Amino acid sequence: AHLDRIAAVDGSVNAFLHVDRETTLAQARGVDERRAAGEELGPLAGVPIAHKDVFTTADMPTTAGSKILEGWRPPYDATVTARLRQAGLVILGKTNMDEFAMGSSTENSAYVTSRNPWDLERVPGGSSGGSSAAVAAYEAPLSTGTDTGGSIRQPAAVTGIVGMKPTYGGSSRYGVIAFASSLDTPGPFARNVLDAALLHEAFSGHDVMDSTSVDQAVPPVVEAARRADVNGLRVGVVKEFAGEGYEAGVSARFNEAVELLEALGAKVVEVSCPNFSYALPAYYLIAPSECSSNLARFDAMRYGLRVGDDGSRSAEEVMALTRAEGFGPEVKRRIMLGTYALSSGYYDAYYGKAQQVRTLIKRDFEAAFEQVDVLVSPTTPTTAFPIGERADDPVAMYLADLCTIPANLTGNAAISVPCGLSDGLPVGLQIMAPVLGDDRVYRVGAAVER
Ligand code: GLN
Repeated sequence: AHLDRIAAVDGSVNAFLHVDRETTLAQARGVDERRAAGEELGPLAGVPIAHKDVFTTADMPTTAGSKILEGWRPPYDATVTARLRQAGLVILGKTNMDEFAMGSSTENSAYVTSRNPWDLERVPGGSSGGSSAAVAAYEAPLSTGTDTGGSIRQPAAVTGIVGMKPTYGGSSRYGVIAFASSLDTPGPFARNVLDAALLHEAFSGHDVMDSTSVDQAVPPVVEAARRADVNGLRVGVVKEFAGEGYEAGVSARFNEAVELLEALGAKVVEVSCPNFSYALPAYYLIAPSECSSNLARFDAMRYGLRVGDDGSRSAEEVMALTRAEGFGPEVKRRIMLGTYALSSGYYDAYYGKAQQVRTLIKRDFEAAFEQVDVLVSPTTPTTAFPIGERADDPVAMYLADLCTIPANLTGNAAISVPCGLSDGLPVGLQIMAPVLGDDRVYRVGAAVER
């Protein structure tokens, strides 16, 4: 049914980069056989899922939305892919994304721009915009994404679905094509909080293949989503994420969500996190710095595209030609920014300073969580913007992640749940919890999702 739905609507939504009916049906038959053989499969066995094209898949190509990986077939599964395969989920295909997860709209994809099912002239958010569009358009009941600065929560918010960034290290990065390694976090998309929790639980947990994986039990997220109560919980409204720059309809829906929390028995207080205002500029030094290092591996020798290798050129020339042709403008901008910020002479002033800001933000979170159990804010300052509106204005594009980035810099758990519409477009409520407090955001999210 989902393959038929994809065939019917994906021509206008453009959520997928790769769909392969036969491979999907073969996987589904495999799950039936395992079940028939008496194997105990998990609660999501047989449920179809779409994977962001940043997770390696042994039976499907993986491009990270880049020309430089066009046609690459990975020899292995990412841990997230492998665990979900083992749990009996069936892969529908690979979803569109901003190139190497750099962007907030999928307009930086080298292949296609995905469209928001609520209004096809608007973006579905990004970088995991194919995954959010697929779930919002009922092409898939579940999907995966990665959140480095907001790339799960922001697309979830603007397409009216649930998107969760787990605690950093709570989900494995093994086989996830790297953007910024100290920030990248795989997480689930679903149409309700309980579904997201079930998916979260199915792929999370310690992985020896990822050196930054947290060696602790997965927080009880499914139990928390089922509990769905906020009675007696202390909720902090982040003072800095309100006012100027927030669309009126976004602020109105956010305020209603806060009133609902109070009506359900939560104690709501205003909390100041003064350094959150510096999170965005610090992120745009740290993330490009890490990407400039990570993307050095695309050297025309190891994977994918190779340009100008006709015997007349040196390896360096082939490398330069390949990277010039294979990377898009945003990726090049970030590599240049990052290389500059890391260069001797500028390192202390830029990268070093940004890391210090990161510590200040961590202290803001710690101080806040001495007073409250969770923090809330709008997920994004505006609803989905029109395709093209911010395409030539990187700074306007970067603002989409204003509220989501603090949790990335510190590794905290954070979710976006739908909290109503503004002018017919979805608004998201962000709920943030301490590191390894993932269950709290599911508990609160399930109580207030709309
Ligand atoms: N939009 C942010 C960026 O462009 C975040 C992306 C992400 O979380 N992958 O870097």
